[in-house]
Amino acid sequence: MDPRTGLPVVGMVGGGQLARMTHQAAIALGQSLRVLALTPDDGAALVAADVRYGDHTDLAALRAFAKDCDVVTFDHEHVPGEHIRALAAEGVTLYPAADPLRYAQDKRAMRERLSEMGAPVPRWRPVASPDDVTAFGAEVGWPVVLKAARGGYDGRGVWLIGTGAEAVERAAALLAGGAELIVEERVALRRELAVQVARSPFGQVAAYPVVETVQRDGICVEVLAPAPALPEELAVAAQQLAIDLATGLDVVGLLAVELFDTPAGLVVNELAMRPHNSGHWTIEGARTSQFEQHLRAVLDYPMGSTALTAPVTVMANVLGGEPGGMAIDERLHHLFAAEPGAKVHLYGKQVRPGRKIGHVTVLGDDLDEVRARAARAARWLRHGDQ
Ligand code: ADP
Repeated sequence: MDPRTGLPVVGMVGGGQLARMTHQAAIALGQSLRVLALTPDDGAALVAADVRYGDHTDLAALRAFAKDCDVVTFDHEHVPGEHIRALAAEGVTLYPAADPLRYAQDKRAMRERLSEMGAPVPRWRPVASPDDVTAFGAEVGWPVVLKAARGGYDGRGVWLIGTGAEAVERAAALLAGGAELIVEERVALRRELAVQVARSPFGQVAAYPVVETVQRDGICVEVLAPAPALPEELAVAAQQLAIDLATGLDVVGLLAVELFDTPAGLVVNELAMRPHNSGHWTIEGARTSQFEQHLRAVLDYPMGSTALTAPVTVMANVLGGEPGGMAIDERLHHLFAAEPGAKVHLYGKQVRPGRKIGHVTVLGDDLDEVRARAARAARWLRHGDQ
């Protein structure tokens, strides 16, 4: 507890934009997020008062950080499970715990567990040798999707493999480099959806409306909330699936379930156990933002309302553009003039081409119009033109 406020201290491991926006939500709850950052340039380190420095793979640094925190949570999935277990054994409260978190850290463990639970997943197989990939491709048809079990994000660690020869070459190189791999059928997806739920230690769950996530080059560029033209029964089924997974895996905090919408129904792609890019729209588009909800969940407060605040909300990610051109400050000026209704979130990151440096959110009544406005706002920030 913070003696100055009488309120609990939440520590978040990792100082990126998720910690930055969680800090923003913590302020409204009377708190100040304690952050374990790597450098003073990390997005959350630039704004939070209580920043400690250390590496998230260093047990001693984690232990020192956790001291006097009421609860420790994470802005990413890279803290080793054995460290989380060691701290839990020493009496630190960490959410999510190591057991559930494993299913967000390791795609193979996730596929195994979800298959056991009867959740819909693509056909898949662990890969011990290149022959496993060729045999799988012969069985389910080419192309197939090869994935690193650990460490990938934004599509890094995912390879579309068109032929047996390519499979042998790629899998052999990756296995030789020490990667643990799985292979999946390439799902005939119509679009990608995501659903977020929050769950508290008490067991209360709150599900957000299902959203559509639009990806380009493996990176989410747009989120449409709620997912357009999604039949009510599918939306409810997706929310129920996410609730069942959160409960079955004993997740505390937020769980984002990434789904493929296929002609044969919904299929689970990925799990994330933290605030997630697919939920940034909730800052303006839902009564309770995902960041506040995550805090409420890990603190075992009752969950907030997930009701929509507008018929349509569109979030567009802002990716770093090529160097040169208009300064970001000037772009912001133009964007504000062009789209006074757009809400801007910049993460305080150095601009690198293709890097997520912020997002914009637009609310309204008409999907096409709101979508066009959000895309235009994001383009202003990226390129300095409309
Ligand atoms: P990451 O963890 O790097 O985000 P994902 O497993 O989510 O990787 O895959 C990244 C993207 O690749 C997905 O959003 C989807 O567009 C595509 N993808 C992944 N798996 C499949 C699959 N089995 N079939 C078709 N497309 C896939």
